Amino acid sequence: MKIPFKFKDVHNCEAVVLTCIDFRFWRETLEFVEKELNLSTFDFPSLPGSAKAVNECAGDEELAMQCIGVPCNLHHAKKIVIVNHEDCGAYGGSKKFETRGEEQAFHESELKKAKERILKNFPDKEVILIYAKLDEEKENVEFLTVV
Ligand SMILES: [Zn+2]
Repeated sequence: MKIPFKFKDVHNCEAVVLTCIDFRFWRETLEFVEKELNLSTFDFPSLPGSAKAVNECAGDEELAMQCIGVPCNLHHAKKIVIVNHEDCGAYGGSKKFETRGEEQAFHESELKKAKERILKNFPDKEVILIYAKLDEEKENVEFLTVV
């Protein structure tokens, strides 16, 4: 099988999007990033729990920080997008929380913590935090920007 390569002699990308490995969310995350954030070139690392991996990183040489560092240093990415999602198994899933509001608030604080950590290493980057939330019927994924 041969597939056309679109990036001959291109070494820079606009962003890095760190997301969870969860098969239920990554395709939808990709669609959101392309359609809503209007990004077309980005590195797309995935680690269990996304922000969790960053927050539990002991040192800057660890995998989660490299997932951000390589895109920033090698591909000159200017934006860093971190996506956490509802019912994330890496955090113990929705069952760990009394309410969905509590779960959302927890993920928002995790995302903010990861942002602080990342800004220490990359103070000039724009960090965008996203929470992927399911609607009441669990039929749609809604991507919320966390500020
Ligand atoms: Zn997850």
